[in-house]
Amino acid sequence: MNVPLLDLGPTLEEQRQEIIEKVIEVVESTRYIQGPEVEGLEAEIGEYCEVSGAIGVSSGTDALLVSLMALDIGPGDLVLTTPYSFFATMGVIIRLGASPVFADIDPVTFNIDPLKVEEVLAADSTGKIKAIIPVHLYGQCAAMSSIMEIAEHRGIPVIEDAAQAIGAETIYSGNGEHGWRKAGSMGLAGCFSFFPSKNLGAIGDGGMVVSRDEEFTHRVRLLRNHGGEPKYYHSVVGGNFRLDPIQAAVLRIKLKRLEQWHRLRRQNAARYNTLFSEQMSHGSFPVSTPRAVGETQNTDTGEERNFHIYNQYVIRVKKRDELREWLQQRRIATEIYYPLGLHQQKCLTDILTPPPMVQTEKAAAETLALPVYPGLTSEMQEYVVKSIAQFYR
Ligand SMILES: *Cc1c(COP(=O)(O)O)cnc(C)c1O
Repeated sequence: MNVPLLDLGPTLEEQRQEIIEKVIEVVESTRYIQGPEVEGLEAEIGEYCEVSGAIGVSSGTDALLVSLMALDIGPGDLVLTTPYSFFATMGVIIRLGASPVFADIDPVTFNIDPLKVEEVLAADSTGKIKAIIPVHLYGQCAAMSSIMEIAEHRGIPVIEDAAQAIGAETIYSGNGEHGWRKAGSMGLAGCFSFFPSKNLGAIGDGGMVVSRDEEFTHRVRLLRNHGGEPKYYHSVVGGNFRLDPIQAAVLRIKLKRLEQWHRLRRQNAARYNTLFSEQMSHGSFPVSTPRAVGETQNTDTGEERNFHIYNQYVIRVKKRDELREWLQQRRIATEIYYPLGLHQQKCLTDILTPPPMVQTEKAAAETLALPVYPGLTSEMQEYVVKSIAQFYR
C-alpha cells in the first residue's frame, strides 16, 4: 500500500467542476487585481474568525511581515517568539533588521511556554522586546489567555502566527470575557497562510491578516499596496502584498467545506489514537500520540469544537530517523516538522548566539508527522500503525 503524506486529490474531486468554472469566470471578468473576489473572501474569513477586519495578502509569510511593518518593527528591536516553528516566523523578524529572542516550548503541546515568556520578558530590562509572536503549531492554539495577560501587563502587542490553525478554537479569558475564541482573534492580529498544504489551501500562494483593531487594520490595508493614501501619495513605505483574485475565488469555494475537512482530520486523529492504544495493549512501544489540551474542554461543554484542527498529526518517538526509514521502505511518507530549532539555524547563529532551548531540541530529535489529510482511509491508517508497531517489536 502506498500512503502519501498529503493527497489533495480527494478534496479537489468534491469541488473540481465548481473551481474550474470559477477560475474561468475570473479570467473572463478581466478583474485581475483586488476586486470583488478578494473583498468577498475578506468578509467571509472575517466572519468565520469573528473579527472586524480581514486583509487578503500574498502569503502567510507576507501576512507576518506586513503585520510587523505595521508595528514599525526595525533595527534595534527584539521580537519574542517560539524556537519551534516554520522558518517564516523568524525570517520576517530578521528581514526587518530586528532580532528574534526565544522562549522554549511546552513539551506537551509543542507551543511556546507562557512561563518561559514571562522569564524572557522579565530579563528584558531595557524594554527592547517590541512584539510577541506565538505560533499555533500543527493546528492547536498556544496558551493565549496567559500569553495575552503577560503581554498586556507590559503593553507589548501580540501577533498570532495562525498559519497552521485557521478555525482552531480555544477557551479564552481576557478583557473580562470568557468563552470560545478562534485562532487569530485574540492578539492584536492573526496571520493565516493559504499554502496548499494548510487546512484551507489555495491553488498557489495566499494569506490573510485579521484583527479586531480598526487602526491596525487600516495600517495593514495601506501597507499591502505600497502605502499610498490617496493613491500615488505616500507618507509610508509599504509593498506589493496583494492577494490574487483567482486564489481568493477558489478559497471562497473551499471555505464552504472547511468545517467538514476539520472534522475529517479530527476523526483521523482519533482513529490513530485508538489504533495506537490497541497495538500497545499487546505490548507497549515508545510512541506518544499528540495531546489536544482542549479535548477535556470539549467533553466538559458537550459541544464539538475545533480544539485542534490537525494540520499535522505529530507523534513523539524513540529512534525517529530509523523509524522514518523503515516506514519509507513500506511506502509510507512521513515528515519532520522541524529537524532544527530556529535558534539553531545557521543564518542566525552566524550573527548571534542564542541560548540552548532544551525542549525544542528534544522535540526536533523526536517528532514525526504522519499522514492525516481528509481522504486518508482507515485501511491506510491501520497499515501505518501496524508498521510502526512492527518496527519496535
Ligand atoms: C506555512 C507557514 C507560514 C508561511 O506561510 P506561507 O503562506 O507559506 O508564506 C508561516 N508560519 C507557519 C507556522 C507556517 O506553517
